[in-house]
Amino acid sequence: MARRLVFLGAGHAHAEALRVFARRPVVGAVLTLVSPYTEVPYTGMVPGVVAGRYRLREASIDAGDLAARAGARFVKAKALRIDRARNAVLCDNGQEIPYDVLSINIGAVARNPLLAGGGAAILPTKPVEPFIAAIEAATVKDVVVVGGGYGGIELAAALSLRGARVSLIAGRAGLAPAAPKAARAMLARRLGLRGVNVIADADAVSADGAGVTLEGGRALAAEAVILAAGVAPGPLITALDLPKDGAGFLAVTPTLQSPADAAIFAAGDCAAFAGLPKAGVFAVREGPLLAANLAAALTGGAPAPYRPQADYLALVSFWPDGAVAVRGRVAAEGRWADRWKEKIDRRFIARFR
Ligand SMILES: Cc1cc2nc3c(=O)[nH]c(=O)nc-3n(C[C@H](O)[C@H](O)[C@H](O)COP(=O)(O)OP(=O)(O)OC[C@H]3O[C@@H](n4cnc5c(N)ncnc54)[C@H](O)[C@@H]3O)c2cc1C
Repeated sequence: MARRLVFLGAGHAHAEALRVFARRPVVGAVLTLVSPYTEVPYTGMVPGVVAGRYRLREASIDAGDLAARAGARFVKAKALRIDRARNAVLCDNGQEIPYDVLSINIGAVARNPLLAGGGAAILPTKPVEPFIAAIEAATVKDVVVVGGGYGGIELAAALSLRGARVSLIAGRAGLAPAAPKAARAMLARRLGLRGVNVIADADAVSADGAGVTLEGGRALAAEAVILAAGVAPGPLITALDLPKDGAGFLAVTPTLQSPADAAIFAAGDCAAFAGLPKAGVFAVREGPLLAANLAAALTGGAPAPYRPQADYLALVSFWPDGAVAVRGRVAAEGRWADRWKEKIDRRFIARFR
């Protein structure tokens, strides 16, 4: 009998896993990909889209093509709920999609540390599709980015190229707190050259129509407030009756399966894999192993454990003025670093053309 495998979300792990299924189809498996968007941006290139370096199409994977190449049915819908008692995914278009094996790769939502007052134009960076649409539609003079990690830093630098006055609230933790001291100095200097006002002595507390208020009552004028201060699980994960970690992300075993339901796999930001940071590089790397384990689940084979790399290369782009490269405790900067980033990003996206 045919075994039904449903891919929920066209995140980075599923993009890679579906590429594997396209090359090595599993006989008798019926595949479905569910995604609310056809054009799914590769997040490594999102700041480049904001900066005007890439057109959205250039930086996106076509989820319909991805599904077609893997022989999967494409359902353009958002999943609202997983009904484990009936082994079905319920979607916002009324469709109910039954599964024997379910793989979840729906990312996360931007964490909101602000008390929101009336009239605040808050733009969460995740999910990324509505974020890009909102940025493309907006013409704002004063923008505040909340969150001083690599994503917030790249976005602040990119927004400064759109003619906006940009403030970046890194908070008391400071810019890129986990990065080595030399990297933090490079990032701060480059943000200064872009005219970005970096706040690193107070956390943001609230936002309203006038802007953002910091601890101690200081106010920053803003017509748009961008949330890039980490991620939280989306409502579908929160409502799912399976074990989670302390932050509410879906617990997974080393084989990327729920410890309470071996038919449910999860990868990328929505999964809590033994303390892994929420970064696209890990979602991408999980993809091939996820594909192998899904194939094993369909055919009765044994799944293998995912072994994450110890650290990873971060390339923080200040296009057109170069990039900062950070790996472990080592940091360096220059135009070469941005050319390197462009090569990696373009090579990744070319795999889906
Ligand atoms: C500005 C910015 C820049 C970043 N740059 C980098 C970088 O350079 N390198 C890096 O490693 N990380 C980077 N990150 C982090 C990176 O974006 C995430 O870690 C990565 O996207 C996680 O991938 P994922 O596969 O879990 O899912 P995602 O890429 O988040 O994709 C999930 C998909 O599922 C969809 N979805 C959501 N809910 C549902 C639902 N209910 N039903 C169906 N589909 C759904 C979403 O719309 C989305 O298409 C950046 C983040 C930001 C905000």
